Parts: sequence; C-alpha cells; structure tokens
Amino acid sequence: AKRHGRGRAVRYAPGMIEAVAERHALERDLRLALADHQFHLVFQPIMTLSNDAIVGYEALIRWQHPTRGFVSPVSFIPMAEETGLIMPIGAWVLNEACRRATLWPAQQHVAVNVSAVQLRSPKLLAHITSALADSGLPPHRLEIELTETALVEDGPQVAHTLSALRQLGLKIAMDDFGTGYSSLAHLRDLPLDRIKIDRSFVSAALHDKHSMAVVKAITQMGSDMGIVTIAEGVEDADQLALLRSLGCDAVQGYLIGRPERQMNYCPPAAISTHV
Ligand code: C2E
Ligand code: CA
Ligand code: CA
Ligand code: CA
Repeated sequence: AKRHGRGRAVRYAPGMIEAVAERHALERDLRLALADHQFHLVFQPIMTLSNDAIVGYEALIRWQHPTRGFVSPVSFIPMAEETGLIMPIGAWVLNEACRRATLWPAQQHVAVNVSAVQLRSPKLLAHITSALADSGLPPHRLEIELTETALVEDGPQVAHTLSALRQLGLKIAMDDFGTGYSSLAHLRDLPLDRIKIDRSFVSAALHDKHSMAVVKAITQMGSDMGIVTIAEGVEDADQLALLRSLGCDAVQGYLIGRPERQMNYCPPAAISTHV
C-alpha cells in the first residue's frame, strides 16, 4: 500500500506489483534472447487436397529460456511488438526460415508470420529482400502471413509494402480469416493469394451449424475469387473429410503433422547421394 494524501492508503490490487515486476523481467529476458540464441523455428506441414502432397511448411517461433523453460509465442510476441523487439526478432525469423527452406524440395514453400508492427515499418522490405538474397531462396517460395489486424490499420506504408512484396513475387496470405473485422472488405480490396480459415471455425464446424456455414462460405468465396483456401487446426479425419467435400484447397493441423524442429532434416538430393 502507498501513502496518499491525508494518511489514506491507496492499495494496489493483489498481485499487481508482482505482475509489473514480472513484465519487466520478461522484457529484459526477451532483449537477451536473440543474442543468446534462445530462439528456434519449428515447421508445420501444409497439405494440398488435390493430391495430398506437402506443398510447404509454416515457420513458428519457439523460445526456450534457460530457467523459464518454454515461453509461448502467444505471450512473448505481443511484448516483442510493444517494445519494438519484433523488428530484430522478425528479421531473424525471416533469415532462418528462408535459409531452412533452401534445404527442401523446390516445389515447397515456407510461410512466415509477419506482425502488424513489422508491416508498418519501412524496414520490412529490406529485411525480406536480404533474407532472400542471403539464402538464395527464390521469392515465389516465400509466403507472408498477415492477420487482419495488421491489414486493418492500412496506412500508405502498408499499401506500399504489400504491392512491393507482390512485385517481388511473394505470396500473401490472410491469417486467422474470419476472426477480425471487415474481413470481406479486405478480401475485396487487398491483393491476397491465400486465405487461412481460422481454427475456431474448423474445429467447431461439425457440431455447430453456424461455424459450418462460415467454413462453407469462405471456401466458396475463395474458389470464386481464385484465392487458395487453407484450413487451420485440422485435428481429425472427420474434419478432413468435411473440408475435402467443401472443396477447400489445403489443410494444416495436428492430423497432418505437428510443428517440428527438423533438426536432422536431410534434403532428398543429399539422401540419394549417400545410398
Ligand atoms: P498462428 O499463426 O495462427 O499459428 C497457428 C498456431 O496453431 C500455432 O501455435 C500452431 O502450433 C497451432 N496449431 C497448429 N495446428 C494445430 C492443431 O491442429 N490444433 C491446435 N490446437 N493448434 C494447432 P503457436 O506456434 O503457439 O503460435 C501461436 C501464434 O503465435 C501464431 O498463430 C502466430 O500468431 C504467433 N507466432 C508464432 N510464430 C511467430 C513468428 O515467427 N512471428 C510472429 N510475428 N508471430 C508468430
Ligand atoms: Ca500463421
Ligand atoms: Ca492462423
Ligand atoms: Ca491464430
């Protein structure tokens, strides 16, 4: 409690001081994490339903702290955005994802999550072009996943970055589609190549008719507009069968594969020369 005015005590809510201190500690640790090599990427496969082939992987960041253990991106990405640390962390993700993708077969792409803060920065383009140049990955093998929140606050910078990315030959996906607002306006106005149907609709579709209607409508719109639809969070065979029947283009989720480190990943060409 803090002394305030005529001897009255202002009491902080229980745990508030601890929570503030913990935020500071987490921020300090996050600042050190990059230099201390505490981040790594995992890769989750994306399967196309036309021939059940793995067409690419989404790169997902992991933070393994020496004493905290595993810290979820759901908790540290927002802090990285608030502190601006998302710029160097995001640049590292782009570099590492492109470098790793060069080890995969040429028909597979890598999808990288790019936050609203990165998209608003004039530095993003330079980070992407140098990740491509340093790795030698052709631009058409890199996809950028943006959430609607990133696209909603579209200033001139966002419009400029999006068209520059397209000119480079990158593919652009709208992530978590259906969870933001004005989704349909974005679908109409933005140059999108892919829509990722949010897991919340996919997992509820079989027992909730409204979710089913949303999944149906998105896949139908995607096919009418020539935009590839990818369903997220596919966990069982019934969901997969449903998505096939609705004409969804591709799927991602634990049923197809969990995000994996690919530590011992060996490119197919390298395997064949060793046998
Ligand atoms: P997201 O982009 O929507 O990524 C999908 C999340 O769903 C991942 O969680 C993934 O592990 C999880 N997932 C995939 N398949 C399934 C499934 O079948 N069932 C369930 N229950 N979950 C599934 P993760 O890796 O914890 O990432 C959470 C979020 O953190 C991501 O959501 C993304 O918004 C953000 N994120 C992750 N890596 C990065 C990054 O490198 N940069 C940025 N800016 N954000 C990232
Ligand atoms: Ca994503
Ligand atoms: Ca998503
Ligand atoms: Ca999500």
